[in-house]
Amino acid sequence: MDAPISRVGVLGGTFDPVHTGHLAAASEVCAELGLDQVLLTPANSQPFKIGFDAAPPEHRLEMCRLAADEDDRFAVSAVDIERGGVTYTVDTLTDLREQRPGTEFFFITGADALARLDEWKDAERLGKLATFVGVTRAGHSLVPSNRPHILVEVPALAISSTDVRRRVRARRPIRYLVPRPVADYIALNGLYYGGIDD
Ligand code: ATP
Ligand code: MG
Repeated sequence: MDAPISRVGVLGGTFDPVHTGHLAAASEVCAELGLDQVLLTPANSQPFKIGFDAAPPEHRLEMCRLAADEDDRFAVSAVDIERGGVTYTVDTLTDLREQRPGTEFFFITGADALARLDEWKDAERLGKLATFVGVTRAGHSLVPSNRPHILVEVPALAISSTDVRRRVRARRPIRYLVPRPVADYIALNGLYYGGIDD
């Protein structure tokens, strides 16, 4: 039997699509904090992105699976997509703790998301459910947060899902910005090629 997993990172996001910036951040935090695993947890619908059409959850989930398949330290949790509705981190962490008793959770969030932590649902409770880990993000300055967190500096990769989507629409290359199976999946399913985007 596998040894019990005790220190688990959770990287929440829309992952529309997952890209190398996400994976490099997850990898660095995993090494720095000696985590056993990092879970990519795609949101069903993001409270800060209401009114914006993300790719369907099944596609975002599948792309996360393809990315996680390439690294033994990574796995995917569909907990937010299965719950449905608007995704709040307080629910993500409550459900994960219920599924994995005895696990210590580390919630990983980029500099841009960390800046808005006070606006998150049940912000006071979040710190009791997981240790928060802020990661540096190219193009985003770290604003001081009064929420306790660990700060991890990660290799600066100026990649965003927004830029990847724009590139696909403009028929510009995304190779090396997303894992190869993810690029193939986008092409095969015709994701991001047309339509309205920000
Ligand atoms: P979008 O442009 O659609 O908002 P995104 O690239 O910001 O996409 P998200 O799914 O919103 O990706 O991000 C999930 C988490 O990963 C957030 O905490 C975000 O700050 C972090 N993150 C995303 N890209 C990077 C990066 N290049 N370096 C460090 N952290 C990142
Ligand atoms: Mg974002």
